[in-house]
Amino acid sequence: KAKEKGGNRVTFFDNSFGEQAKRRFEIEQDLRKAISQNEFTLYVQSQFNSQQILKGGEVLLRWIHPQKGFISPAEFIPIAEESDIIYDLDCWVLKNALSLIKKLDKRHAALSISVNISGRHFHEPRFLSLLKTQLDSYKIQPNQLTIEIIEGTLLNNIESAIEAVQLLKNLGVRVSIDDFGTGYSSLTYLKQLPIQELKIDRSFVFDAPKDNNDKLIIDMIVSLGNLFQLDVVAEGVENQSHFDLLQEYPQVILQGYHLHKPEPASEWLKKINN
Ligand code: C2E
Ligand code: MG
Ligand code: MG
Ligand code: MG
Repeated sequence: KAKEKGGNRVTFFDNSFGEQAKRRFEIEQDLRKAISQNEFTLYVQSQFNSQQILKGGEVLLRWIHPQKGFISPAEFIPIAEESDIIYDLDCWVLKNALSLIKKLDKRHAALSISVNISGRHFHEPRFLSLLKTQLDSYKIQPNQLTIEIIEGTLLNNIESAIEAVQLLKNLGVRVSIDDFGTGYSSLTYLKQLPIQELKIDRSFVFDAPKDNNDKLIIDMIVSLGNLFQLDVVAEGVENQSHFDLLQEYPQVILQGYHLHKPEPASEWLKKINN
């Protein structure tokens, strides 16, 4: 068909487009069985304060596909989000994160475990009621759980977002805005959202040592945090220069490869409970 339209470029385009569509389709199909086939693992990346004291960890999903091998959540989460698979996936992660919290040693009662929840369904009553049921059955302190929502998706429907965040707050769960600075939060929205935390997007951290504009954005987010009494987390602290720069903000919580690379939750737990 491409040939009829003439030209190799058309053929080439059609093929690579076909390849992409095929991979996408296969991933979507395989995602449906991946939970029952035990192909997912939870990883945890530690978070530290400026004195390098452990403050918590972010749970990150890893998928080892039986044929395709490792597939990044950056690839499969958006595919899951376009179908209803994301609901089962986030429920699975939530359940396992709560079981992880349950297994934390008593002396770690002040740590908070962060879980990424897709903005697509976090407004849904069934998600909130599942969360409530799970919190009751695991009997954990609800403030040991932090729900991260990406700024952009949170703002799709601000009225319903305010309501959902309020419900989470009523449950005692912490709420964090992930990738903060990449969406379009206005001060009016921030003032209305009963959140506890802002996570500076790693793109700002990445360039801050050489780009003063990114440094100024970090200044601004830290100031917002102070103003609204929110915790501020910097993600993507990848090297010494990022770490040194962030020492200027002693209240900021640090997360990144420079401090700790994500590791399987079971190993992380063994290490910190030891
Ligand atoms: P995110 O929530 O912003 O997570 C941070 C990402 O940055 C993670 O990528 C992490 O491995 C990576 N990272 C950590 N430290 C560094 C660093 O120093 N340098 C660099 N360059 N990267 C660093 P990951 O695990 O590939 O996850 C990508 C995204 O996928 C996450 O971004 C999150 O939006 C989504 N995601 C991951 N797990 C889940 C999940 O269980 N549920 C949902 N809904 N989304 C998830
Ligand atoms: Mg996150
Ligand atoms: Mg992020
Ligand atoms: Mg991200």
